[in-house]
Amino acid sequence: MTLNIDQGLQSKAGFRGLRVAAKIVESSLITSFHLEAADGSALPAFRPGQFLVFKIPSGDLKGYVLRNYSLSGSPDDHCHYRISVKREPSAGPGLPVGQSSNYLHDNVCVGDVLIADGPRGEFVLDDASDRPAVLFSGGVGLDANGRDAARTGQPVGPSHPCFCMPAKTARCMPCAMRSMV
Ligand SMILES: Cc1cc2nc3c(=O)[nH]c(=O)nc-3n(C[C@H](O)[C@H](O)[C@H](O)COP(=O)(O)OP(=O)(O)OC[C@H]3O[C@@H](n4cnc5c(N)ncnc54)[C@H](O)[C@@H]3O)c2cc1C
Repeated sequence: MTLNIDQGLQSKAGFRGLRVAAKIVESSLITSFHLEAADGSALPAFRPGQFLVFKIPSGDLKGYVLRNYSLSGSPDDHCHYRISVKREPSAGPGLPVGQSSNYLHDNVCVGDVLIADGPRGEFVLDDASDRPAVLFSGGVGLDANGRDAARTGQPVGPSHPCFCMPAKTARCMPCAMRSMV
């Protein structure tokens, strides 16, 4: 896989309100959120591999935690973003469940507004390269590269990539990927 390090990929727009247009249960662990600009403005374009940074409300003095979620929708959809969030369980006895992921799964509904910055991130395919690409993912591990590969069955990126995604069971995988196994 080749990287395209391009400072121009960093959004300068700052935090904005994103309204939840749809909330889709993808699997036993993963739920997707389709987001649109709360003020109706156009959404900045993104490249597969980029992510948003969310301010997730918390009960502490600061009032929020920052968490990153990759853009899992199509870069061709200029009206919506999609993120796919894996519910993070407690890591062990006496430890809390994941703060942000469980908040999103349990408390965020269609019509709610989330606060997010981005798109950010420089880990994108170099479209100009003709070198082979191998995509490895873990956990929720599905960004728009994998999504498009699943949807079209066509090669993504500069060459014919191999997409490798481990999962405990097929039920844990996002729908798009389950259809491939
Ligand atoms: C660039 C990037 C992109 C990402 N994209 C995605 C994505 O598309 N989808 C996705 O689901 N995630 C993604 N993530 C991960 C995501 O940002 C969060 O880290 C994830 O959702 C967990 O956050 P949380 O607040 O739910 O869990 P946290 O509250 O951070 O907890 C995580 C774990 O830590 C344990 N823990 C809490 N306190 C302690 C303690 N004191 N000692 C030991 N363990 C403790 C908890 O039990 C839990 O198991 C991405 C991360 C990055 C960096």
